[in-house]
Amino acid sequence: MFDVIILGSGPAGLTAAIYTGRAELHTLLIAGTTWGGQLMLTRDVENFPGFKEGILGPDLMDNMWKQAARFGAQMIYDDVTKVDFSTSPLKVKAGKTEYQAKSIVIATGSSPKWLGVTGEERLRGRGVSVCAVCDAPFFKEKKVMVVGGGDSAMEEALALSKFAREIVVVHRRDELRASKTLQQRVFKDPKIKFRWNSVIREIQGNDRVEGVILQRVDTDEKSKVMCDAVFVAIGHKPNTEIFKTQLDLDDQGYIIAQAGTKTKVQGVFVAGDVADRHYRQAITAAGAGCKAALDVERYLIASP
Ligand code: NAP
Repeated sequence: MFDVIILGSGPAGLTAAIYTGRAELHTLLIAGTTWGGQLMLTRDVENFPGFKEGILGPDLMDNMWKQAARFGAQMIYDDVTKVDFSTSPLKVKAGKTEYQAKSIVIATGSSPKWLGVTGEERLRGRGVSVCAVCDAPFFKEKKVMVVGGGDSAMEEALALSKFAREIVVVHRRDELRASKTLQQRVFKDPKIKFRWNSVIREIQGNDRVEGVILQRVDTDEKSKVMCDAVFVAIGHKPNTEIFKTQLDLDDQGYIIAQAGTKTKVQGVFVAGDVADRHYRQAITAAGAGCKAALDVERYLIASP
């Protein structure tokens, strides 16, 4: 029996584990089979306070991981497959084992969205990717597409610029959603070009990406563009499938939190992207992890 089980190992989950471990709560962190969350797929993190020269995403997560371990959090690398919040103690199944706890922090984060067009699924790992940091080196001197107009898409384009010959950003509007800083960087990069008011309708290729069918959203005009890869960066969806029968979710699947980090079930708290459709930053997730841990502490004092 644990005082608290934390589900997820991004900035929210690991910060929660640092706080509950340091408060000497018997803490289990179920990290998932791939741990560390989205920062493991990021290169330079320049806006996380405390690192004046920036820090690599995986290094930041490794530091958090070691800090949580130092305070005694136990960690397992399994995916949570089932939860039962109708009983006391609360139950969580991961791998073949069922774990029990007096409280839970859900910090399962979010996953990349896909376009859902023909060819996308079939050519995943064969030129279709959601991670330029992981896959950009495969496309040295090649022509690649990036889909999206937000910060993630701009970061993908900049990461690809170190390797690719030409990067074409395909955006469905004629202005970017990304921050001004990132916009300035991409507009200055001579390798990065734009196809405005356009969407990808199909990704073509036999055993690797060979091209895409683009369509303008204003004129419906279609064109075929040859390319070697498509990097999809159109946002994320919260990882809440296993909670949908037990907790209240909003229309986009985010867990609805009440009064900070509480959910409708006593003893179940929430932190990070899984409940945040607005900010979704590493630092806001870490802050939410801290809040959830403090709420757990107060809850366990009130109902030991
Ligand atoms: P986002 O801000 O939601 O942007 C998603 C982009 O994809 C938008 O431009 C959107 O177009 C487009 N899009 C969505 N669905 C689409 C579809 N089906 N087909 C074509 N285009 C589609 O997502 P994000 O870029 O992943 O960023 C998420 C959050 O993380 C943001 O708060 C961002 O600031 C943050 N972030 C920060 C950094 C950083 O600070 N360095 C880096 C990465 C992410 P519309 O613009 O038309 O809606």
